[in-house]
Amino acid sequence: MEFARWVWGVALIGLSLSAGASPFVVGEGQRPQSLTPYLQILVDEPGKLELQDVWAASSQRWQSGVNASFGFSEAAYWVAITLQNTSDAPMGMIIRQDYPLIDQLDFWQPSLDGGWRHTATGDRRPFDSRPLNLRDFVFPITLPANTTHTFYLRYQTAGSMNIGLSVSSETAFLPQLGKEQILLGIYYGGFLVLVIYNLFLFLAVRDRAYAYYMGYAISYGLYFGVHNGVYFQYLWPGNPWLANQSLLILLGLTLIFGIQFVRTICSGPRLAPRTDRVARWVLYALFPLTAIAPFVDYGPMIVVLALLTLMLSILFMVMGVISLLRGSVPARYFLVGWAALLVSVVIYMLKTFGLVPHNGFTHNAFQVGALVEMVLLSLALGARVGEIQRYGYTDQLTTLFNRRYFDERLAREFTLAARSGTPLALLILDLDHFKAINDRLGHVRGDDALCAVGQLLRKQVRKPVLACRYGGEEFAILLPRTDREQASAVAGRLLKLVSELALDGISLSASIGIATFEQQNFASAMQLIEAADAALYRAKQSGRNRFELAQCESDVNAPTLAAVTQ
Ligand code: GH3
Ligand code: MG
Ligand code: MG
Repeated sequence: MEFARWVWGVALIGLSLSAGASPFVVGEGQRPQSLTPYLQILVDEPGKLELQDVWAASSQRWQSGVNASFGFSEAAYWVAITLQNTSDAPMGMIIRQDYPLIDQLDFWQPSLDGGWRHTATGDRRPFDSRPLNLRDFVFPITLPANTTHTFYLRYQTAGSMNIGLSVSSETAFLPQLGKEQILLGIYYGGFLVLVIYNLFLFLAVRDRAYAYYMGYAISYGLYFGVHNGVYFQYLWPGNPWLANQSLLILLGLTLIFGIQFVRTICSGPRLAPRTDRVARWVLYALFPLTAIAPFVDYGPMIVVLALLTLMLSILFMVMGVISLLRGSVPARYFLVGWAALLVSVVIYMLKTFGLVPHNGFTHNAFQVGALVEMVLLSLALGARVGEIQRYGYTDQLTTLFNRRYFDERLAREFTLAARSGTPLALLILDLDHFKAINDRLGHVRGDDALCAVGQLLRKQVRKPVLACRYGGEEFAILLPRTDREQASAVAGRLLKLVSELALDGISLSASIGIATFEQQNFASAMQLIEAADAALYRAKQSGRNRFELAQCESDVNAPTLAAVTQ
């Protein structure tokens, strides 16, 4: 139904290109009707004309049948709408401009005394300059019986010049408005549900992809709130500056979180390193751009951000395809979601730059596409969790991460630490005389004890610290940005907690070997493990229930615990 109306709208524009503008005859109970085919538009490049000059302008200067979407333009646009009431009764009508981000919008209607009534509004003017307290610009008019009236509007804006005018009777407008409010509620409700749902998943899974997703969804949802004019109406009606600049900040944040999310979900650094590098450059460029966004001219900035959006849309597609070809499952969902968004972004951009008409379809496509995308990206996150599980990154008994995951993470954290010059500590914790416990109480009780230690570690360890079961009764704990002193303190605390574990009949103790990577003292992650292992060996040697720090030079080549116990 809706779609048929859009198609009809496009067809009408095509017709009017040849037909030229004629008065629009309003009907009884007129349903909302796009006025695009009936508009007459006069472009005032210097933006100096007054209403009188516009009347005096030669008819050649007036264009009709244009698609009413002019992209970014400094010019002022004058619009004349001619409405005809052929009935014998006066009609209360509504003229509506459906794009709420127009900086200055002036409206003139004939008044009863033969003069003109001028309304000066726009989102650079306080919200209460509007005749009605609504997110769009809505002008109530009266068409006397058997008359033809012309109304004038003047548009000037630093953003995208979208002239989206429609007319409806007052009685048809209210139900329409109610319907739209419900749709908006569903729309933002959808975002909210996705954010809350993924918040819970984030708390359970603790995967940073979820955090990026939430950042992305929240800034995207807020962005649309500005875009729809909802915040200007409800949150900061007295602040036209915020009404404009907030869009830039939120768009910047959306792109930042979007980049990080996509890089993570597509495993960009691993599967598509070159595309990932480009994405990272864009990310670095976006930080300062977003930071200065509140203080710069809206016009040039929105053009830059719009172009970056377009560029990123393509870049992400490339990254998705590459990681799909290299076997990523989440990339599948991502690609479908991204394709949905991409199609809608392209439609929207074409409209923003004035290449396709501004109508209900082009105006809302982006927004609908974004929500569809968000749902599919949430599925991609689910697939990512599935992938993590499928590849067996967790230890069945303790549900800590397993060694495989640890090795991957260690390699990554080691590289990060080497690059950033921050310290990285590794603790290897081995339970003392565990074999004796097994022998004495049985394997099942032994397993319980291992579970209890696993639980203890999980409780103690907060991101970015990572704990995993490294082997039988051996646990590894990785502490980014932690030096020897801090690592020793952690080790001391863990030893105490292990000895305090309340397990009926079992008293546990552990030994810990600590190695810290500081000032490039190790050449590889492997050497770091060996050093921690050697320190553990010394802790065992010198009586257990204690920790030892690696002395890197001597320990690297010392016999390791593994070598000795084998
Ligand atoms: P120490 O710490 O002093 O080196 O002595 P230990 O007895 O702990 O050391 P060792 O490495 O010789 O023995 C480890 C024991 O841990 C062997 C095995 O019985 C036990 N173990 C390893 N994996 C599991 C497991 O999954 N469940 C149980 N219950 N026991 C395990
Ligand atoms: Mg042991
Ligand atoms: Mg052992």
